[in-house]
Formats: sequence, C-alpha cells, structure tokens
Amino acid sequence: MDEFSLIQQYFQRKSHSKSSKNSIHSGISLGIGDDAALLAPPANHELVISTDTLIAGRHFPLDTPPFDIGWKAVAVNLSDLAAMGATAHSILLALTLPKADPDFLAKLAEGIFALCDAYNVSLIGGDTTRGDTLSLTVTALGWIPTGQAILRTGAQIGDLIVVSNTLGDAAYALQHLNDPQLDSSLKSRLDRPIPRLELGKALRSYASAMLDISDGLAQDLGHILTASDVAGQIHVEKLPFSTLLAALSAEMRAPLALSGGDDYELCFTISPQKFADFQQLWLVNDLPLTVIGEIVQHTPKNERLTIEYHHQPFHVNTQGFKHFD
Ligand code: ADP
Ligand code: MG
Repeated sequence: MDEFSLIQQYFQRKSHSKSSKNSIHSGISLGIGDDAALLAPPANHELVISTDTLIAGRHFPLDTPPFDIGWKAVAVNLSDLAAMGATAHSILLALTLPKADPDFLAKLAEGIFALCDAYNVSLIGGDTTRGDTLSLTVTALGWIPTGQAILRTGAQIGDLIVVSNTLGDAAYALQHLNDPQLDSSLKSRLDRPIPRLELGKALRSYASAMLDISDGLAQDLGHILTASDVAGQIHVEKLPFSTLLAALSAEMRAPLALSGGDDYELCFTISPQKFADFQQLWLVNDLPLTVIGEIVQHTPKNERLTIEYHHQPFHVNTQGFKHFD
C-alpha cells in the first residue's frame, strides 16, 4: 500500500475531507487532500495551537494496543488545549511507521477518531513517512475568545492550588506493567487519559493560572510558581487518590502523584472567593476538584515549593520526567 492509499483508507473521512456545506464541523473550509488545510477561525478569537510527539518505547510501552496509542497521542495534545481554557477544534497527525500493517493502522485510526469524535475534533491533515521507530506527532488546534486564555503566569498570593480527579494512577500502572494483577482502571489511566476540556473551558474567568500535569505535580506546579514569581505550599494529606492508591502508605503513593507522570489532570490556581463560586456551577459534573495547597509570597528565604505532610516537611524527589538529564 502506498502512502496515498494509506491516508485515504485510514485517515481521510468523507465528511471531513472536502469543502462541503454538510461538513459536520464548522470552521473547516478544506480538510485532508490538498497541500494544506484551510480554516476559518471565528471572529474575535485567538488560535490556540500545540504539538506533542509520542515515540514507541519512550512515551508508551512497545506492546501498547494500537487503539490506545492513537487515543493517547490525541489525548495528550487536547490536554494542552484544555490547560489553556480553549475549545478544541482540529488536529494534524504526522505519523512515522516501520511498516504499513492494515490491522495495526485500522485500530490506530479507531483510537484517534474515538477521541476526536468525543470532543467534536476533526483530523484535517498530516504527514506519513516510513521510519524505524513508530512515532506520532499530533498538532492540536483550538479557539479561545481573545484575551481569555489561562496562562501559567497569573497565580496570585492567597490563591488556592486545585487539581482535578486523582493523581498517581498512571504512574502506578507504569511501575506495575508486568503485574498480571494490575487493575484495569489504573491501566486505562495510563493508556487512555481523558483531556479535561470541559473543565478547562469552564475555568475561563475563574482560574488565575493553569496547566496540565504530565510530568509529575511537583515539577509541573513549579512551572506555574516560577512563571508567576510566587511560592506554593502543598499538603500531602490533601492529595486526591483513587481508592486503589489510597490503600497504599503515604510514603508509597505521594511520590507517584508528586513526581510520577502521565496524569493529564488540570492543576490551577484560583482565589478562594472565585473557587467557592466555581464549585457551585461545577457541582453538576462528577469530576472531583481538590484543594491541595495555596500560593504564598516568594522571598529569598523560602523554597519555591514547600511540601508538607501534616505540617511536617515531606521529603520526596520532586524531579519529574525530563528527557535530557
Ligand atoms: P504533501 O506532499 O503536499 O505534503 P502529502 O502527500 O504528504 O502532501 O499529503 C496529502 C494529504 O494528506 C495532505 O492533505 C496531508 O495533510 C494529508 N495527510 C498526510 N498524512 C496524513 C495523516 N497521517 N493523517 C492525516 N492526514 C494526512
Ligand atoms: Mg504539497
């Protein structure tokens, strides 16, 4: 199969492919098939754009099911849009394949489109090459009303630090990949992260700063603290854990949340008043939000990030994942 029929067979979906009046997706004047796609962004919006590469054996285990590889490649990119407060719109996919195995490609495409369909996102283009290692680079595009993006720079002294859902499940799954007893709910936290797009969007005009946690809470929160030039305190006893991780000792589970990776939950800062207001309107959703700490002044005397367990210093390796160490 040459690359053109491969693209046509697996990635070009009729409803998205041509400029047509019945395109299910507004804002796309031209999708897959020409040298480039054409988008028509809504007036008074900014384009939000982000890209992330997933390499086999580095970002996902080599034996990850192809559906999950496709899902995760899209999910981690949509998660970056969520972390800005954006509405996701479309993606591009640059794919490097060792071989064109039809079964693999069909399942990969299924995983990609499952997530796209869940968030009304279209695949509008990409690139397909042969290479020794399977790799997927997704570029995600979204919109946000001009000036409303939630940046890392806005955290204020007195703000609460809040995270969505539970932390550490994916890191636990990664550590226990070869354990046949590994719970499937933990495995799916690793293989099928859920981009928190509804939450991110709802937090516009509420959160003062936000990011998605991909490389461990301590390192990622550190990015907000540095960018906003403030300090933060987190309380280990407040970190949200799934029932399965809650059964472990604090010494076991805290490092999974603080320096594990692959959570793809949102971490944001917000004033106490705004958080009270936001909780009222977020109550209808079953995605839990947990206050885990607060923003304080950064002085020459305090650490950028203080981690305490019942008011005692809690020592943990706060280095999250880094590619070049
Ligand atoms: P060009 O040579 O002009 O870069 P290509 O032959 O690489 O174009 O691609 C043809 C069309 O197919 C383009 O619209 C491109 O965006 C799209 N495309 C290529 N690979 C993929 C892919 N993996 N997923 C989605 N669209 C793709
Ligand atoms: Mg061309």
